[in-house]
Amino acid sequence: MRKRLIAGNWKMHGSQNQVHQLIAGIKNGVAQSSAFSEIDILVCPPFIYLPAVQKELADTTILWGAQNLYVGQQGAFTGEIAGSMLADVGCRYVLVGHSERRTIFGESLSIVAEKFKAAIAAGLIPILCVGESEAERERGDTEKVIHTQLQSVFDAAGINAFHQAVIAYEPVWAIGTGMTATPALAEEVHAYIRQLIAKNNVDIAKAIRILYGGSMKADNAASLLSMPNIDGGLIGGASLDANSFLTICAAACKEQSTINEMKVNQR
Ligand code: PEP
Repeated sequence: MRKRLIAGNWKMHGSQNQVHQLIAGIKNGVAQSSAFSEIDILVCPPFIYLPAVQKELADTTILWGAQNLYVGQQGAFTGEIAGSMLADVGCRYVLVGHSERRTIFGESLSIVAEKFKAAIAAGLIPILCVGESEAERERGDTEKVIHTQLQSVFDAAGINAFHQAVIAYEPVWAIGTGMTATPALAEEVHAYIRQLIAKNNVDIAKAIRILYGGSMKADNAASLLSMPNIDGGLIGGASLDANSFLTICAAACKEQSTINEMKVNQR
């Protein structure tokens, strides 16, 4: 059974004080109900705040991760951070191939694949982001784009690396725009992703968590998370507000307990 995962991508937002307030709000909300332990809750702050967040979350089950890593192990790569450095400070999760990295920072298919490999080599859990642009969707190329983005990582890292990975389907046209994919549309692509993985390894396809990202908010999370192949969310804007983030987490908990009950009844 796949444990729901709600991940907050804080992007380049926050200050020491805002980070402290946000973490305090999330911690406080999570402490109110044991139901939150049914799911995984992850926050991905900017690099510079990771040690502070790690410290503040030390006595909780809330997970933390990074938004990026470099492909090299160490060396003359000014300004970069290696996967081994993240692992060294206790980081377990890292986003790879977010559309902002691909478009703003020009990360090609091969760079994304190398970053995915570097994360695995460092013992991290990569959250591999894939998704089509608006123009690609309008051209009817959604599946082709997703296939190309995934295949380049299958080829570079091998399917077995996905035992230890999470995928996030993030249609680029929905990120930060307020235009959310309908649950049916998102489900269609999630099912397609699972099917692509199943062609390589059925067990991994059954077990891997596929998150939806793209303007997931407190008021649309429940309907998206109720879809059979949507195992959680990667949340940008709404993760910067503790109440919104907690409402999304609560929707995931509700879905998780329904699934848990169904499993028990099937026994
Ligand atoms: C994201 O950046 O991964 C994202 C999904 O952002 P938003 O929720 O703001 O659309």
